[in-house]
Amino acid sequence: MNQEFIDKIYTIIDSEFVLLNEPMRDHTTFRIGGHADMLLEPTAKELPQVIEACLDEDVPYTILGNGSNVLVGDKGIRGVAIIIGKRMSAISVEEDDGGAIVTAEAGALLSKTAHLALENALTGMEPLAGIPGSVGGAVLMNAGAYGGEVKDVLLDATIYTPKGAVEAVPASELDLSYRHSAVMGTNQVILGARFKLQRGDKDAIQAKTLASAEAISSRLTFQAQAQRLRDPRVISPVSLYRMRDCRDTESAEQRYQPSMQAL
Ligand SMILES: Cc1cc2nc3c(=O)[nH]c(=O)nc-3n(C[C@H](O)[C@H](O)[C@H](O)COP(=O)(O)OP(=O)(O)OC[C@H]3O[C@@H](n4cnc5c(N)ncnc54)[C@H](O)[C@@H]3O)c2cc1C
Repeated sequence: MNQEFIDKIYTIIDSEFVLLNEPMRDHTTFRIGGHADMLLEPTAKELPQVIEACLDEDVPYTILGNGSNVLVGDKGIRGVAIIIGKRMSAISVEEDDGGAIVTAEAGALLSKTAHLALENALTGMEPLAGIPGSVGGAVLMNAGAYGGEVKDVLLDATIYTPKGAVEAVPASELDLSYRHSAVMGTNQVILGARFKLQRGDKDAIQAKTLASAEAISSRLTFQAQAQRLRDPRVISPVSLYRMRDCRDTESAEQRYQPSMQAL
């Protein structure tokens, strides 16, 4: 990464949101991994400019949301890690045909989005309330839990195609199926999503929202286990499978190998 590229980035994003040689353990749930050459947290307006700069200068980039479903290897991330997070996290609600549409930027937490639905007595997002991660990450993999998935409530997603357009793509065109969407494996970036929800009984919505949030948070013991990765016996093959969106699994697999053989 040359100085010219770094200087160009500083013309796009305030230096406060540009970190050089940044440890990825501070940005991922499993708290492992080496350094990213550069880590950026852009706004929705800055994001396309950052990606265009990377493409122009041939600098690789990696998109991250809340970092709940990635393992970064010890060698870290070459080029730029782009976090879609707090600076792209607006959520709003508008009345629509007896129900409402909840609009969330990709960096909004899915849990916060579901809780805003609850505050507005809107039903549909309750099963998603405890899933850790951003709206963008959830749409990308059609996240789901407890009999519900993003597909059930997603109206459309706003998608940016590098060197191309920003467009709202209807959910029906996203090929959403079990932990899959048409965006996976492409270079497209989800900028936001709209969810169509119905009016419901607030007490019932609250009960379901809290139940799914609590049920998933009880599984966070898994996260606590993963944070003790120095002891390879604490991680199971099932857990390794769940972390299937690995960027660089080489060192992770080496660490997990003894436990996989033992189980
Ligand atoms: C304890 C625990 C429990 C979990 N339980 C569940 C569960 O019940 N159900 C479930 O479905 N998942 C579950 N997960 C997995 C995780 O919560 C989901 O995969 C979540 O959708 C990841 O979102 P994220 O923002 O953290 O994405 P990240 O981990 O940051 O990224 C995951 C992938 O999405 C891509 N990505 C992220 N944001 C965007 C974007 N805006 N545009 C394009 N690509 C993007 C990244 O490039 C990466 O490939 C769990 C994880 C943990 C740690």
